[in-house]
Amino acid sequence: MTTSKDKKPLRVMKFGGTSVGGAERMASVAEIIAGHLDTSEMAVVVSAMGGVTDMLIRAATEASRGDREHWKGVRAELARRHRQVAVQLLSAAEQATVLPRLAEFIQDFENLCSGFSLVREVTPRAMDTLSSLGELMSATLMAAILRSAGHKAEAVDATELIVTDDSFGNASPLADETTHKARQRLAGLRRSGAIPVITGFRGATHDGQCTTLGRGGSDYSGTIIGAALDADEVWIWTDVDGVMTADPRLVPDARIIPEISYREAIELSFFGAKVLHPKTIQPVMKKKIPVWIKNSFNTACPGTKICAASVNGQAGAKAITSVSDAVLVTMNGKDSLSFPRLATRVFNGLHLEDATTLMATQSSAENVLCFAIRQADLARVKARLEKTFELEMLHEYVGVLEVMPKVAVVVVVGEKMKGTPGIAGRAFGALGKRGINLIAIAQGSSELSISFAVKASEVKEAVRAVHEEFKL
Ligand code: ADP
Ligand code: ASP
Ligand code: MG
Repeated sequence: MTTSKDKKPLRVMKFGGTSVGGAERMASVAEIIAGHLDTSEMAVVVSAMGGVTDMLIRAATEASRGDREHWKGVRAELARRHRQVAVQLLSAAEQATVLPRLAEFIQDFENLCSGFSLVREVTPRAMDTLSSLGELMSATLMAAILRSAGHKAEAVDATELIVTDDSFGNASPLADETTHKARQRLAGLRRSGAIPVITGFRGATHDGQCTTLGRGGSDYSGTIIGAALDADEVWIWTDVDGVMTADPRLVPDARIIPEISYREAIELSFFGAKVLHPKTIQPVMKKKIPVWIKNSFNTACPGTKICAASVNGQAGAKAITSVSDAVLVTMNGKDSLSFPRLATRVFNGLHLEDATTLMATQSSAENVLCFAIRQADLARVKARLEKTFELEMLHEYVGVLEVMPKVAVVVVVGEKMKGTPGIAGRAFGALGKRGINLIAIAQGSSELSISFAVKASEVKEAVRAVHEEFKL
């Protein structure tokens, strides 16, 4: 926390892919930043320009399959988009240093893809170096745009700030090391009043190998930096007015929620609300650093405040979210395996495959365990469980794995649902009225959420029905 009275509060401001999607958008971001300079000290975190990360990952994947042409098209598109911003927004002097720098990043892209196509492989480690090149380019541009407008700013590669473990593709930060490194690296810039413009998404292991924090990870970068610097606030600038009562793409009349608790935000992001990376809240929760979600396209809107406790939050359901690419897996331990033994081995398998369990239900009399996971995790989990229970399955002591595909998990979230009777009944009644069949039901033990599985084809209607029932 800032202590001295005349010190400005430190705000970490993260701008997502659409907020830095092109020259016009980047110019507005520079205006937003400039507009807060009188009242805040700032550290800026930027995502890659919208769509760039997808392009990079696709290029690497195609190259590793031996396609030697696809990435050449991507190289041209990357060069075009980033050059266009430079030419439109940078002073001549800035262009002279930034254009060669962009060319170096594109050369790195070319070298990596060329290597992948030769060896027909891309390792997770190499993928991280490649997939986060977009952040290096956008941070380089954003810092130069600010300098061209007369402000002091410097692009900073987050591999110099965020120390992570070596789970390439989905790394976790090491808090103490990150705090030490980030403070040390940024001290000089902060003293001189320069704005650090930090690459989102990226981090590095102890020995300096580039890692990434998972898709959408720049939100997480924002709060990791916020916690490391003991910032007063973290502002996440995106393309919607704040956290809404439902995904606005599913429910057009979803409303903004002015304030939600950390726990509610965690629950929403864990269950698919894309507005926040699922781990975003973790670094700031203990330090009680408030996080704001704001719209870079509509700066007049105050946005959503995420903080320790929602003081005037309404009782009952607060928001609805859904994961629509799920599958439901059922395992039957029959008479031979007690439920605890079955569950222990199944969940250990899920853990070893790093698969997120979206919901789980049991029928202990029959030793049946049913759980929902993401479709993308299914092949690995299935192989793992079939190996784990190979002998039992062979002798039919355990039933074969039954998989119900194309399932969606819908989750109703609200801290104050606890102690409000009838919430589940109302939700299920609303679904029943529309003839939507419930495949499985679970209530979070925290009573912060109620989850249910429906057919993926009915998810939109299910979310809308529940949204309407609770008049969100
Ligand atoms: P950024 O590029 O700024 O990180 P994202 O696309 O990752 O933005 O996240 C913002 C998007 O999240 C919104 O455009 C919206 O479609 C989606 N979204 C899903 N659920 C919600 C929700 N409950 N509230 C707000 N936005 C949501
Ligand atoms: N650019 C990265 C992605 O698209 C990180 C982010 O945007 O948050 O996943
Ligand atoms: Mg995002």
